[in-house]
Amino acid sequence: MNSSARGRDAVPASAAELLAPLGGSPLYRSRSVSTEITARLEKMIAVGELRAGDRLPSERDLANSLGVARATLREAMHELEAKNLIERRPGRGTTVLPAPDRVEALYHRFSDEEHQLRDVAELRETIEPRLAALAAARATPANLVELEEVLRGPVSDLTPEESLKLDLEFHTLVAAAAQNPLMSAINTLACSWTSATRVMSHASRYAREVSYLGHRAILIAIAAGDADEARDAMIRHLNDVQELTRASYEGSRSAGAQKGDA
Ligand SMILES: [Zn+2]
Repeated sequence: MNSSARGRDAVPASAAELLAPLGGSPLYRSRSVSTEITARLEKMIAVGELRAGDRLPSERDLANSLGVARATLREAMHELEAKNLIERRPGRGTTVLPAPDRVEALYHRFSDEEHQLRDVAELRETIEPRLAALAAARATPANLVELEEVLRGPVSDLTPEESLKLDLEFHTLVAAAAQNPLMSAINTLACSWTSATRVMSHASRYAREVSYLGHRAILIAIAAGDADEARDAMIRHLNDVQELTRASYEGSRSAGAQKGDA
């Protein structure tokens, strides 16, 4: 049995809203009933009233409580399933999916590689310059020692995998130095979602050196407590990474097209 589902078989008490009859809101009339159900469940999942592993009531019970036809409910369930918010399995009923699965499943379905490159760049640009600025304002001496350690070794001997590992460590430690556990958690998730793309910016020795120099500039600004420079250095680093990633991606594509020479 899967203990990670926390043994929550029924909808929790906090999710009583799920079973309240529809209607009442003035906006309600302008939407279809299945949209209303979808929106209610989506909101409950987004705010954590329904959590990963929670099992929804049977279709019949839910349709009765909501006062809607089963066909209408099914339409809403199809939409939630298409959005990877829930999973429906014969014999197991309907359960809420964990967030990373939802994101990964969405990613595989909707993104080709080019989109992934763009999405990763946009995500990182949104989070990381701010983290670097906060790190410059808040880093403790211990944070600085840890960051320094990551950049200590000679970059010239690193394999792409080693370089990527150090890169992830460096960015994780910058996030930790920002002393904001919420942003740090988002950064950790972002690292796990982006590592497939990130490896491309460590493919060549030149790329690894550019990456290393970018990290150095960020660390120097953080150590100096210069938030503006730390933010700018991170933006420059992310721009470099984006160019290197794109170059590596286009290189591998044209190599693929030529049926792989050395
Ligand atoms: Zn980096």
